[in-house]
Amino acid sequence: MDFEKYDPVSTLKVPEHILTRAKYPFIDVHNHQWNMGSQDLGALVKEMDALHMQVMVNLSGGNGSQLKQQADNIREHAPKRFIVFANIDFDGIGQPGWTTKAVQQLEQDVKNGANGLKIFKTLGLSVNDNTGKRVPIDDPRLDAIWDKCGELKIPVLIHAADPAPFWEPMDEKNERWLELASHPGRQRGPKNPAPWAQIIEEQHRMFKKHPKTTFINAHFGWYANDLAKLAELMEEIPNMYVEFGAVIAELGRQPIMARTFFEKYQDRILFGKDSWVPSEYATYFRVLETADEYFPYHKKYHAFWRMYGMQLPDGILKKIYYKNALKIIPGIDKSGFPD
Ligand SMILES: [Zn+2]
Repeated sequence: MDFEKYDPVSTLKVPEHILTRAKYPFIDVHNHQWNMGSQDLGALVKEMDALHMQVMVNLSGGNGSQLKQQADNIREHAPKRFIVFANIDFDGIGQPGWTTKAVQQLEQDVKNGANGLKIFKTLGLSVNDNTGKRVPIDDPRLDAIWDKCGELKIPVLIHAADPAPFWEPMDEKNERWLELASHPGRQRGPKNPAPWAQIIEEQHRMFKKHPKTTFINAHFGWYANDLAKLAELMEEIPNMYVEFGAVIAELGRQPIMARTFFEKYQDRILFGKDSWVPSEYATYFRVLETADEYFPYHKKYHAFWRMYGMQLPDGILKKIYYKNALKIIPGIDKSGFPD
């Protein structure tokens, strides 16, 4: 038998609270729907209702006519339930006039119904300019875009790089070995296309350079496994918020440290999940709401360890589930949420 096969049934008997529905209506700020322009939103709303998800933020809005179609479909069929973020088309960056055009497109997208901007991890990893050079996240050719978001009072949700172990040797010491073994495309060399720390630092420099713009650092900025470091960044960068999409397993293995972090930064943490698999939300609710011990995560390649609940108090839960998102994302109907 090998490690991938080993999957022992726990003999531990402790109280279990399997939550298929959140205690409060919540806003998922990190979701992807790829076909929202023509999708039957009614079917999606039913699935959301079962989870108690009041509002879904679709980060894959695109731009131009694609974005407008999505915003129109939302306005017509479920205006209180969905928010859409625009995306930048980085093609041609470096050509004269690129920045001006990108800013104009963003303004138009916001007029058409976008309530935020999402930057995919391609920026910093695979976006090259017209001379073939990697575009760093803090490239000055992007400054006007970040400033425009501040001016329009829309947040920028940004996913930079990936977990650091993807840059490290894939050996018996690598904590993401199983993920790399099952997803070989995720492995990178130490400098492919730049060292991990360099890409992450570009992101932090960019946040600091644009203090009037609100940034949501996706996936806890890949520091969910080092909350002391993330706390330092929270202090240094007051315009940075974080969401915990795809990293709840990191929080669930350190419930005491994580709860302390949530207490301290309760006004700057948002609920995010990323991939749309409704059954997986139960793990998130359980880590946030319960005091359950030693329960499994839903994907062994993210967490071969077991999880523990943080049992956050109601006041913090409400902030995480909806109050913080209502504060920074414009255009969300507030009537669906308690005080
Ligand atoms: Zn995502």
